[in-house]
Amino acid sequence: MVSAKPIPEALEGRRFTFRGGVHPPEHKGIAEEKAIERVPLPPEIILPVAMHAGAPAKPIVEKKAAVERGQLVAEAGGFVSAPVHAPVSGTVTDVAPRPHQSGRMVTALLIKTDAEKTAEIIRREEAQTISADLDIGPFAPEQIVERVKNAGVVGLGGAAFPTFIKLTRNERKPTDIVLLNGSECEPYLTADYRVMLEQPAAVIAGLRLAMKATGASRGAIAIEDNKPDAAARLRETLRAANVPEGIEVCELRTKYPQGGERSLIPAVTGRAVPVGGFPPDIGVAILNVGTAAAVAAAVAYERPLIERVLTVTGPGIANPGNLLVPVGTPLSFLIEQRGGASEAVTKVVLGGPMMGPTAANLNLPVMKGMSGVTLLERAQTKAHRVLPCIRCGRCVDICPSGLMPALLARLGQRRRAEEAAGAHVLACVECGSCSYVCPSQIPLVQHIRTGKLLARQAQQKR
Ligand code: SF4
Ligand code: SF4
Repeated sequence: MVSAKPIPEALEGRRFTFRGGVHPPEHKGIAEEKAIERVPLPPEIILPVAMHAGAPAKPIVEKKAAVERGQLVAEAGGFVSAPVHAPVSGTVTDVAPRPHQSGRMVTALLIKTDAEKTAEIIRREEAQTISADLDIGPFAPEQIVERVKNAGVVGLGGAAFPTFIKLTRNERKPTDIVLLNGSECEPYLTADYRVMLEQPAAVIAGLRLAMKATGASRGAIAIEDNKPDAAARLRETLRAANVPEGIEVCELRTKYPQGGERSLIPAVTGRAVPVGGFPPDIGVAILNVGTAAAVAAAVAYERPLIERVLTVTGPGIANPGNLLVPVGTPLSFLIEQRGGASEAVTKVVLGGPMMGPTAANLNLPVMKGMSGVTLLERAQTKAHRVLPCIRCGRCVDICPSGLMPALLARLGQRRRAEEAAGAHVLACVECGSCSYVCPSQIPLVQHIRTGKLLARQAQQKR
């Protein structure tokens, strides 16, 4: 391990934070009061085989095959990969390349929905409850990992990294603590907030399973202090369940990007993730709160990850909400279900506006890692004139990674890969805070991304 710094003994009752960061307007009020709703089933599902970090999955069903909700339809394509399951019962109408949110064409299974058969399975699933004090005794650590792997659970916070890898024990790097990330610091998004309020038992059961799998003796659910009711709900649920493990609910100061793992982990544990390293290097496993709920369903009921809660929000949507949606649902269907987009919409963001990519078209499907769809109007997306850098230093002051964004952007723009690597461009978490504060409106993160790409390519050639 790189750092064995002890984690503070009591995490509750303190308010953690990190160096740098910004305070963009939250806009959470648009959807935060909306309870999670299941959307009607779309007539057709578009199911990409690449909805996770790592190798794409390999389809195992062909055109015209009849499939059932929950059935395996594509196997994991390597160690770092995840299987894909049918979110609806129906018929596979095609297996062909389709537009993907990455901008590439990626193989997808098209499934025509049989609404009646799907609804019958959903009714059975809805009868399966998960309590915070779920008896985890019968599940061995290896069995937890295996069920999570088979269920295709990936990080629901955005990165979509296969969760079983985070839960697998590594004798050389023992896990001291499992951290659940409930900070949801991106403006507009409220899906995690609703999951914590409405499914606290599943979140806690998932955390307990993750602790058992990894062997961690401690667990913490970290929540920004703009969601005190979610923190209270989780504490109440913990008390009522009387679970024995060392689980705490801790509060973080509301600041962006508090939810980035490189901001959250040092804030709570005092341990910094090394540049080029990962949380397990410092004894930490970190999962999103929604991922923890998916872990509980995967282990308790062998339920695959075929649907997720996401926020459809922004000034440009008629009826915003927090929705339970089958993965593969086309965005156009989702937007139509919420009353449609306003005429002033100029940008649809997949996730929140600070880090989310722009949707190139509305036929893209909901993916496992998609936490929201934000519809922005002209007023929020107006193009500003880019001015020269005035060397004000604001970008340096707020960078949570301690970098020099103006310099990195310049190196990226000039394609000076070696120098960018030397200036630690790879430590940039692409949070966008530097672009946000820049008075000259320089698209810093865009240039830095170029620098990262070139630095990685240069590293691979060595
Ligand atoms: S340089 Fe990277 S990590 Fe630092 S503020 Fe900019 S985008 Fe965020
Ligand atoms: S915030 Fe913008 S203007 Fe100020 S130093 Fe950074 S790049 Fe230059």
